[in-house]
Amino acid sequence: MNETQQAKLIDGRSLAKHVLEDAARKVEKIKAETGITPSLATILVGDDPASVTYTRMKRKRCKDAGMIPRRIEFPAETTTEELVAAIHDLANDRLVHGILLQHPVPKPIDKRTAFEAIPVEKDVDGVTSATLGRVILGMPAFASCTPRGIMHLLEAYDVELLGAEAIVIGRSPILGRPMASMLINRHATVTLCHSHTRSLANLVRRADVVIAAVGKPRFIKGDWIKPGAVVIDAGYNEGVIGDVDFDTAIERASLITPVPGGVGPMTIATLIDQTADAAALQLGVAV
Ligand code: NAP
Repeated sequence: MNETQQAKLIDGRSLAKHVLEDAARKVEKIKAETGITPSLATILVGDDPASVTYTRMKRKRCKDAGMIPRRIEFPAETTTEELVAAIHDLANDRLVHGILLQHPVPKPIDKRTAFEAIPVEKDVDGVTSATLGRVILGMPAFASCTPRGIMHLLEAYDVELLGAEAIVIGRSPILGRPMASMLINRHATVTLCHSHTRSLANLVRRADVVIAAVGKPRFIKGDWIKPGAVVIDAGYNEGVIGDVDFDTAIERASLITPVPGGVGPMTIATLIDQTADAAALQLGVAV
């Protein structure tokens, strides 16, 4: 590809729309066969403005797909024990098919303990260690929604992964780590980077597929991108700015996700779709 040619944009909104339509179809089938409406419980602890917005968006998408959003809110001073008890109640509630604990949670709460209280069959946000283990091993799972959504985008745009050199920048349990595993399972050769990685720019320069999951605005520079590489920007920083310096990266990449409109819509759509699938499994409906 000519270096001055601009990359094609990956349209996450359009694919997310299809995923949501398919989830709505699954929900209709479940309702028709069982008379039960699938339900997603969203738990919000505290009043972090971004988390308030995210849970509201998730409930709206849930409703749009024909499901029942169950809204659970706790004050910021809630203890880990209280939160775990509430999650156990939802785990035992047969009318709740998916449980989402919005994070970050307030500091005193032990997030990992709370996540682990979610049973794997209702872990539609893919946050438990059991789910991550399944993802690593390539077993069926409701995977963490952002990397699963990214894989869906890569498939939709026919990105060759077999033998490709992929780099994932960021190793969080909900993003970088499952992302690297999913790429390995598709036979890419993966470099997983973090804050102690040396010569990051040189590592990025080798990659055919770049996944940015750092949480630092415009951190990945355009001149690090190999001409023709596929660039996926999972970053979502204050001011709606990605982790990639989009204006310079677009000059070298072949395909690139915009922020907003790339990865973000796929994350929520994947959550809704996995909730429909969880309900189908729990209720014994083939969708
Ligand atoms: P996180 O938990 O803060 O993890 C950030 C990762 O980046 C860590 O592994 C960290 O390394 C690494 N890192 C930090 N500085 C670095 C540096 N200088 N060089 C290389 N790596 C560095 O963040 P996250 O939850 O994974 O989220 C990452 C980004 O994705 C954020 O912008 C977030 O808003 C966004 N996000 C978007 C969606 C969506 O739906 N679009 C969903 C989730 C997250 P260490 O492990 O060494 O600290």
